[in-house]
Amino acid sequence: MANPKKHVHKYKRMKVGKAKAYSIYRCFQPGCTHYIAEEHIINRFSACWACDQTFLITYKLIKVKPICEECRAARKADNKAKPIEGFSLEDMLANVAAKDAEEEAGDDE
Ligand SMILES: [Zn+2]
Ligand SMILES: [Zn+2]
Repeated sequence: MANPKKHVHKYKRMKVGKAKAYSIYRCFQPGCTHYIAEEHIINRFSACWACDQTFLITYKLIKVKPICEECRAARKADNKAKPIEGFSLEDMLANVAAKDAEEEAGDDE
């Protein structure tokens, strides 16, 4: 037994077979060689690729690297460019100016 420790499989979709004709979900946890056919992935537990928590894969959560509903929602929210808390545009511009000054100072190298 290579990996006696019980774990939640962490599935990733990949193409296999001649001409990559088949899609399977293979577990990417260390030491695990488990895989299942793509059509059986629904209603399986997987570890989330983003937060590692166990979640049930539903139809809408299917993707190459499945992530849980919470992370999916978080990623959607991230796409709507939200300002970083406690970090103003002025701070950002000041940082850029400081970086420019550093690069100029390092011209000797
Ligand atoms: Zn596994
Ligand atoms: Zn997650």
